[in-house]
Amino acid sequence: MPVEMELDPFVLAKSLSGVHLIDGEFVAPVNGKTFDVLNPATGKSIGQAAEGDKDDVDHAVMVAKAAQKSWAERPARERGKLVAECGRVLNQHVDELGKLIALESGKALRTESRVEASVLADMFVFYGGLASELKGETVPFNPNMMTMTTREPVGVVGAIIPWNVPLLLMAIKVAPALVAGNSVVVKSAEDTPFTVLRVCQIMQQILPKGVLNILSGFGPGCGGPLVEHKDVKKVSFTGSVETGRTVYRAAAEKLIPVTLELGGKSPMIVMDDADLEKAVAGAIGGMRFTRQGQSCTASSRILVHEKLHDEFVSRLKDRVNALKMGNPLDESTDIGTIINAKQRAKVCKYIELGSEEGATKHELSALPDDPELADGQYVRPVIFTDVKPDSRIAREEIFGPVACVFKFKTFEEALELANDSDFGLAATVWTTNLKTALVATKRLEAGFVQVNQNLVVQPNLSYGGIKLSGLGREASLESMLEHFTHKKTIILNME
Ligand code: ADP
Repeated sequence: MPVEMELDPFVLAKSLSGVHLIDGEFVAPVNGKTFDVLNPATGKSIGQAAEGDKDDVDHAVMVAKAAQKSWAERPARERGKLVAECGRVLNQHVDELGKLIALESGKALRTESRVEASVLADMFVFYGGLASELKGETVPFNPNMMTMTTREPVGVVGAIIPWNVPLLLMAIKVAPALVAGNSVVVKSAEDTPFTVLRVCQIMQQILPKGVLNILSGFGPGCGGPLVEHKDVKKVSFTGSVETGRTVYRAAAEKLIPVTLELGGKSPMIVMDDADLEKAVAGAIGGMRFTRQGQSCTASSRILVHEKLHDEFVSRLKDRVNALKMGNPLDESTDIGTIINAKQRAKVCKYIELGSEEGATKHELSALPDDPELADGQYVRPVIFTDVKPDSRIAREEIFGPVACVFKFKTFEEALELANDSDFGLAATVWTTNLKTALVATKRLEAGFVQVNQNLVVQPNLSYGGIKLSGLGREASLESMLEHFTHKKTIILNME
């Protein structure tokens, strides 16, 4: 299907309403049901998503299974070229995709949504170039036997994605899975079905039919049957810890491999020798204030040496205050909205709880005054100081613009505080002392540790967590090889 550029996200959302994408075609759900998708900036409907259920899952998996055979038979580099080509074409749609994701997710276009759309394209180009790494080894097992290994695709992959960074999180599953010779069925998140569908539509111009299929629907009704389907041989999931456990249990019944990227409560340690200005900027970026803090890697626990604490908090407050909250589609907006009313209510409850638990609340920035946005899911960013390490706001993932700042005296105390968490996704340390940096990187319990910076997921860097933050790594070569292929050992007796 040829795809015309459409820069009006409202028109685009309507045009993508009521359908899944299966076997290269838009198809209505078997049950005919749809649900409203709301613009979180206004509360108004922008379109209806297809409400997929088991019948749609059965259809999509059947198609994906049939398409996978011939896809896997193509030379690896040919698959890689097509996937890289998807990246190049998606790159032409960055503006369009950025606007659509801003509309459905409420993330500000300039600071968040457009950036995500361009990283999406880059991820496909990156993985396309890795196709020739799908190689095996020869093993010196016995001089009379030729022994080698090959990498084989797992088959049909089920990818379940959340709403906070749907494009990027889809890309880090779909791109390596396809390059490795698998076919994929994606279940998009309830709040953000359209941009993912649009990406898939664009990719249909390049990929053979049926190798990439997209379903929308609710978790238990559509995601559940996808995980449980007998022909889905691998599940890659990003979302909450609770749902991750459900997915893991269902996968255990079938004994299939699972990749899980779950929550976080990431620490950021600011030592007394840190460059204060850089650390403050790092806290703004790390806490993802411009995304209303809706990030698994958000630096939501900021540990500051007592010598710098007050100055750090004062500068951080000034910087957050200067961020402009507004219409996500407006280029001048820094901070957009929370995803939906339920999530907003949850965040507001945590903000109330923080005060009840005795922390000092600093409420920053200002709500937009545009009457059009009066029903939008806006929350003012909050910094809590004087936070007790065992309080709930210090331990639980809030997934909102709420940062907890702690004061520490010694490096040892900071490391203990940082590691005293059920999560282990990301961590950063800010120091100008090399030894402190090296010791911290060694001792911090997290999958993604950075010194004096706060980058997000990047092509080529393994990304994932330990403890309750998940299983497996994404975004790298290792991810493609370890999570989307099986190793086969082949032995030829030459006697
Ligand atoms: P959130 O609470 O932030 O929406 P979830 O972990 O519930 O996070 O959702 C992440 C993704 O998992 C979404 O696409 C959602 O529809 C899906 N999901 C939710 N419940 C299930 C389930 N029981 N089985 C499979 N997928 C699910």
